[in-house]
Amino acid sequence: MIGRLASLPGGPELLAQARRREDIALVGGAVRDLLLGHWPRELDVTVAGDSAPLARALSASVSPSERPYGHVVEPILHERFSTASVVWDYGRIDIAELRAESYPAPGALPDVRSGSVEEDLARRDFTVNAISLPLGGERRGELIAVEGALEDLQQGRLRVLHEQSFRDDPTRLLRLARYAARLGFEVETRTAELARAALVGRALETVSGARVGAELRLALGEADAVAALAAMDELGVLLALHPRLRFERPVLEATLALLPSEGRPDLALLAALVLPLALRAQGDQRAEIVVLLDRWDFPAGDRDRVASAAVAVPRLLEELPAAARPSAIRAAARGVPIEGVVLAGALGCAGPAGRWLQETRHVHLEITGDDLLAAGLSEGPEIGRRLEAVLKLRLDGELADGREAELAAALEA
Ligand code: ATP
Repeated sequence: MIGRLASLPGGPELLAQARRREDIALVGGAVRDLLLGHWPRELDVTVAGDSAPLARALSASVSPSERPYGHVVEPILHERFSTASVVWDYGRIDIAELRAESYPAPGALPDVRSGSVEEDLARRDFTVNAISLPLGGERRGELIAVEGALEDLQQGRLRVLHEQSFRDDPTRLLRLARYAARLGFEVETRTAELARAALVGRALETVSGARVGAELRLALGEADAVAALAAMDELGVLLALHPRLRFERPVLEATLALLPSEGRPDLALLAALVLPLALRAQGDQRAEIVVLLDRWDFPAGDRDRVASAAVAVPRLLEELPAAARPSAIRAAARGVPIEGVVLAGALGCAGPAGRWLQETRHVHLEITGDDLLAAGLSEGPEIGRRLEAVLKLRLDGELADGREAELAAALEA
């Protein structure tokens, strides 16, 4: 494992530091993934004391060939949590002080103090994430794990470390679904019972919306996000997050299949999940979606894009099937985020939505407002109206090719 670590971005630098101090250990997802023969996305590391000095040393030692010329890698220090991160173009190392945690109240942030390796493993979410690989000192290369961790990893099983786990930190319910989907692991029987009991006991209501949102964003960003959402649905997590969220696999899959590369898969999936809110006959549908996404702390730009996409769908479902001409398709889709049109396509308007995605939205005039000003028209909304009228002709194939024809039509319009 140490040999494989040496071939990962940041691995040689980490091992070099571990020759200087004894307390550096790899932990969490990185150890799990290396044991499974996968490539970890980032390296999680623990140290016995302050994480900042190691972060500074690693930042300074990131290979010059892995950073743009003259670019210095600055460590990110989160002093409140005594954690630090080193992030550069090719890799990421997260460093945390070994700690013990206790929960003052269910769902609250834990009280934290310095701890032993064993205590640090005992605060983790699932046994397969509670394995440590010391990189220095006498125990270098020796796996330290909570009871049953290695067996669970081998058997492909997700198990919490103790009965209070989901009550202490209900975001682990979302993590459970995400790992089950990504790793293809089964949820151990008692863990499944505890998860159900926590959901029935409305444990998720005790956590801040921001923390739920952070885990939801991780699920939406998974390589197979549909699988992660399916696992959340099956577990009852989606229902607990909001009773109207709807997971429909065929719709989500069709949405992703239609989405062009400039669309955002995570936002398209989220728009599909919140769609029932947009389909309600009463109330301010957009406001309800905005409130929900604000509660989950989505950035305003993403929130507005999802809300606009979702609320456009009911109208698109009416207008797109009736749109015989490309200009009518354009009029219906105008101003709607791409994810909204795609979602309408996935819900039965594949023909017109596909046409808009592949053809209509790429049609542009060769002339601009400047050409009309140069031809003697005066500035004002009239210019926009004329360009729009010409574009309609162009879209519907009622105009000869070239700028001359466009200009003539615009002046005549
Ligand atoms: P990924 O492969 O998605 O990055 P990871 O296992 O590395 O997964 P992180 O979110 O980076 O996950 O967290 C690193 C480690 O910290 C986890 O493996 C786990 O041991 C621990 N951890 C993270 N979140 C929690 C939590 N809510 N409760 C307990 N332990 C956690």
